Amino acid sequence: ILSLQQVSKTFKSGNRLLTVLDNVSFSVPKGATLSIVGPSGSGKTTLLGLCAGLDRCSSGRVVLQNNHLEKLNEDQLAAVRNKYIGFIFQNFQLMPTLTAIENVMVPLELRGEKKVRARAMELLDKVGIADRSHHYPAQLSGGEQQRVSIARAFCNRPGILFADEPTGNLDAETSEKIVSLIFDLNKEAGTTLVLVTHDGDLAAKTQRIIHLKGGKIVSDKPTILTA
Ligand code: ATP
Repeated sequence: ILSLQQVSKTFKSGNRLLTVLDNVSFSVPKGATLSIVGPSGSGKTTLLGLCAGLDRCSSGRVVLQNNHLEKLNEDQLAAVRNKYIGFIFQNFQLMPTLTAIENVMVPLELRGEKKVRARAMELLDKVGIADRSHHYPAQLSGGEQQRVSIARAFCNRPGILFADEPTGNLDAETSEKIVSLIFDLNKEAGTTLVLVTHDGDLAAKTQRIIHLKGGKIVSDKPTILTA
């Protein structure tokens, strides 16, 4: 479903060029689960953004479901994101002026779906916070905000879900619930999962772990799954 071929990303820093990703190549088959791990600043978030079409690579190719992302204009990229991709951001990125249910309704409306309120409610119910549907993000705990962001990421029934530190800042119990929600999506709908995480236990639950260091892949190995 996803393939990266010799992808590099540089940022301008003053008059110097900073290479954040250096010749990264890997492929992810449909339905697979993968973690990207590595030290802070190794390029994990940048890599996830390139895979999800939120940013563009400086060189190389990113192919998602037969779409060459580097060849698409902004509208075409947005269409690919809408159609195939769910994204859970590190800091949730909910709209602060909208309630929980409205945060989930907006992308449904953008997709031209009907009965968006009922569908948004169904999604909030699935992640266990239907009773908080009229709260604003500031009135929700971190775990609750994370659930809203998951409901929003699920709303297009994505073929591939990208999650940046989905359990960062959550207590052990909440993080366990969030992790089962994400893996249920993989089991029930065959959704491909690509996670960035510092959490070794979470990484060990995926089938494969890619280790990034200084913008390069230093190892890419299958995980020995215990369950
Ligand atoms: P962390 O685990 O701390 O979240 P990370 O591995 O996800 O780190 P990235 O966020 O991908 O790392 O950042 C990699 C490097 O790229 C960092 O040195 C960062 O400062 C730099 N960087 C990221 N985005 C930009 C940008 N828009 N402009 C300039 N430099 C950037």
